Amino acid sequence: MEDCLFCKIAAGEIPSKKIYEDDRVVAFYDIDPQAPVHFLVIPREHISGADRITEENSAIVGHIFAVIAKITKDLGCGDDFRVVNNCGELAGQTVKHLHFHVLAKRSLAWPPG
Ligand code: 5GP
Ligand code: ZN
Repeated sequence: MEDCLFCKIAAGEIPSKKIYEDDRVVAFYDIDPQAPVHFLVIPREHISGADRITEENSAIVGHIFAVIAKITKDLGCGDDFRVVNNCGELAGQTVKHLHFHVLAKRSLAWPPG
């Protein structure tokens, strides 16, 4: 999609520190990390947010979680990490392209703010 930051990152038009990519998803480090490990996993397909996941396009979410499990193992996070999706302005979504934050290697409080 034109003028979408994460579509441009997925296409390599805007540089990022990529960790993993395949034909369906890209994982890259967050530019403003909130934990010693903080990366984002996005679908290449433009889906504006979790509110736009349907029975037709939801298979990508399963793949994203399999990729998260692989990357966290590769980065030595063990089984200690948090996956976050912010959907909508009230929840803090600033980039309108579906993405899952993965935070690890520090203790994380609950509930979130
Ligand atoms: P949201 O606030 O939508 O849940 O998350 C968007 C995330 O994208 C934020 O954590 C922010 O730091 C990250 N971000 C924004 N612009 C860029 C960028 O140009 N490159 C990278 N790698 N991350 C970005
Ligand atoms: Zn996009």
